[in-house]
Amino acid sequence: MSERSLTGNIAIKVDKLHSDLIKNKNITVSMLRLDKIHPIVSGNKIFKLFYFLEEAKNSTHKKIITFGGAFSNHLASSSFACKISGIKSIGFVRGEIPAILSHTLQYCIQNGMQLEFINRTGYKKINEIEFKDELKKRFGDHTLIPEGGFSVKGVKGAEMIGNFYKQGVYSHVCCPIGTATTFAGLIQASRDNKVIGFSVLKNLNDINQRLQFLNIPPTKVHEVINDYHFGGYAKENGDLFSFMNLFYEENKIPLDFVYTAKMMFGVYDLVKNNYFPHGSNILCIHTGGLQGNKSLPTGKLKY
Ligand SMILES: *Cc1c(COP(=O)(O)O)cnc(C)c1O
Repeated sequence: MSERSLTGNIAIKVDKLHSDLIKNKNITVSMLRLDKIHPIVSGNKIFKLFYFLEEAKNSTHKKIITFGGAFSNHLASSSFACKISGIKSIGFVRGEIPAILSHTLQYCIQNGMQLEFINRTGYKKINEIEFKDELKKRFGDHTLIPEGGFSVKGVKGAEMIGNFYKQGVYSHVCCPIGTATTFAGLIQASRDNKVIGFSVLKNLNDINQRLQFLNIPPTKVHEVINDYHFGGYAKENGDLFSFMNLFYEENKIPLDFVYTAKMMFGVYDLVKNNYFPHGSNILCIHTGGLQGNKSLPTGKLKY
């Protein structure tokens, strides 16, 4: 898979955002539309997967094994990317097998992913040697992709996102933080801008260890904002949905409620509170994830 085919030859563009919320601030906010890559397969995941898929494609086993929850964008993306690359995919899903499969898992199955359910106790051990040996015995040789692509290889893939916007133009580049792999890739990719990550987790208190594990030199400038997780992972409220609907009205850009909406809510709030210096030129990465909105009750979103 070449870098071009990663995006399906779709031109990824940067949209300038318009908002009454931040008018008269002498600040420009734009968005890199990685969500345009595919309607279901989320923007950043395909980048994080890149080098794992290369490895699997060039191997004799042509097989990957990976992990995620029942609504995981990572599993959805992995299943799709493997399908189009001729790679067999096996997805370990956290939790007991449900009576009704989530739309995400149904999508994975449609893409030919073999699903294996593993209870929460077992799931805690997926990074242990014994479990990995077990996988080898059961499935033979394979490329193992950590949950969310959290690895140096994942960072290397995410770094390619930096090829999709002009370097030297932006003062700040913003992204949501889940595992921090994308954040790390953007830190590596940036030349003269500060990277700001918006945590979607309530207790992200190990960011320095994560960045160290991902080989990011501590000297690289970055900032993590912890104030906009809305109570924790996949938690939401009426304010968030109102914001998403307004944002859609103003820009015709859909946000997902787990990641990109929280980032944008945070960016606008920080602009309002004069966090960014005058003249700042901010780029927000739309990391995709829109398939996650399908888990919401109808009527919450106007798109
Ligand atoms: C997975 C995901 C993220 C988080 O990326 P990390 O590299 O794990 O921090 C952000 N946005 C969307 C839409 C995602 O699906």
